[in-house]
Amino acid sequence: MTTDAFPTRRGRMEYVCTQCGARRGVEELLYTCPECGGVFLLEDLDFARMKERPAEEWRTRFDARRATRNTALRGIFRFYELMAPVLEQEDIVYLGEGDTPIIEASPALQKALGARFAFKNEGQNPSASFKDRGMAGAFSYLRALVRMHGWDEVLTVCASTGDTSAAAALYASHVGGGIRSVVLLPRGKVTPQQLSQPLGSGALVLEVPGVFDDCMKVVEYLAEHYRVALLNSKNSWRILGQESYAYECAQWYGWGLAGKSLFVPVGNAGNITAIMSGLLKMRELGLIDELPRLFGVQSHHADPVWRYYSRPEGERRYEPVRVRPSVAQAAMIGNPVSFPRVKKLAARYTEAGGDFNVVQVTEQAIMDAMICANRHGHIACTQGGECLAGLLRAKELGLIGERDFAVLDATAHALKFSGFQSMYMENAFPPEFGVTPRPELINTPRLLITPERRAELNEAEFTAETARELARAAGLKSR
Ligand SMILES: *Cc1c(COP(=O)(O)O)cnc(C)c1O
Ligand SMILES: [Zn+2]
Repeated sequence: MTTDAFPTRRGRMEYVCTQCGARRGVEELLYTCPECGGVFLLEDLDFARMKERPAEEWRTRFDARRATRNTALRGIFRFYELMAPVLEQEDIVYLGEGDTPIIEASPALQKALGARFAFKNEGQNPSASFKDRGMAGAFSYLRALVRMHGWDEVLTVCASTGDTSAAAALYASHVGGGIRSVVLLPRGKVTPQQLSQPLGSGALVLEVPGVFDDCMKVVEYLAEHYRVALLNSKNSWRILGQESYAYECAQWYGWGLAGKSLFVPVGNAGNITAIMSGLLKMRELGLIDELPRLFGVQSHHADPVWRYYSRPEGERRYEPVRVRPSVAQAAMIGNPVSFPRVKKLAARYTEAGGDFNVVQVTEQAIMDAMICANRHGHIACTQGGECLAGLLRAKELGLIGERDFAVLDATAHALKFSGFQSMYMENAFPPEFGVTPRPELINTPRLLITPERRAELNEAEFTAETARELARAAGLKSR
């Protein structure tokens, strides 16, 4: 078999309701269970047949595809058989998503923090966040639907904390052919960089006063009353695409995740759902021998999942929270859509011998961690900082020991959240964030020469004087 050949075996996929267990076929795009309103997960009824081949054979196959020239298998669909084995090659959308590197933290940083860890740089995806994984899944399925039904127009809609809309607009504009993108944003609650993305991709960008949870309610109502393709994480094809993160982690470490702890920021909880689901599948097939430890991380300003798990079993009760301003803005969600999925999968995860935890961190800790990481050669966004803060918190709580190695999900590129970095450097956080910069981490530009002084000098004088000023600022000695 050449590594370029697209797989021929097709599975039989169904939506399964996480609440009542109802099943539905995938000929239609469904978001919630018609029986009970619960959220779906997707299941391949023939998944168990993968066990007819030894795990080693699957590992070899997935490893071989790292060299493929077939772009349908280069991104998240390197793991086609584990994810959506009903799609045809012609449906697959590939914009360079997935296959992101895991970069070990600089030795100085690991030493300074007394922890062993690496970042998986999800900011190296095409729209600079992990959301592209899910969109590659959702848009590939959408193309299959368009082909099967012969539709000539599809309107995709999503509510977003910024990155979902950036990804949705990017994929919609590339696929084209009657697929249009509408995104709904909470006004002023996404960064200027994130806002520029769907605008640049030509999406219809609409804003409402309020927070993400308000936008979510609007698009849910819309999906109930109009024919639209919803691209929020109620769309279980996105969850499926995001499972690729887990497969890549395992593959990066030679299919061994024993002794590893994965840290994931939790907002709408789609990502942690996908990662758990992927890990469980690999464990079931024997692709990995042991489940890694899994840590969800939430800010104290948006922590419904942490609140739920912080109570002893038996006393747990889920309650949405009203969010407060958070630098981990992409995870600033008070009523996560995927909470029922998390509950279900976390129970299965622990049954299968895995360890599932949620830790809570402060806004201050998130910012300090982000800045500190990036001063050591990383490109962590605020949510990546949240993961690092989560690792330090877990260490403080005695949940992480000297020998543990953590893989932190740096979910987006630092550049998307540079405004928070600026607020830190300029000590300009509005009081509701509760963030005060650590003086040693502040870094601001300095003007070497005033325009007035420059106007007094000729070119040679300007060059010499400015160079002398630079040497003084940098503490250089003359030769
Ligand atoms: C969406 C997002 C999150 C939160 O992921 P969920 O799946 O909503 O829990 C975290 N970080 C970034 C950068 C995101 O875009
Ligand atoms: Zn149901």
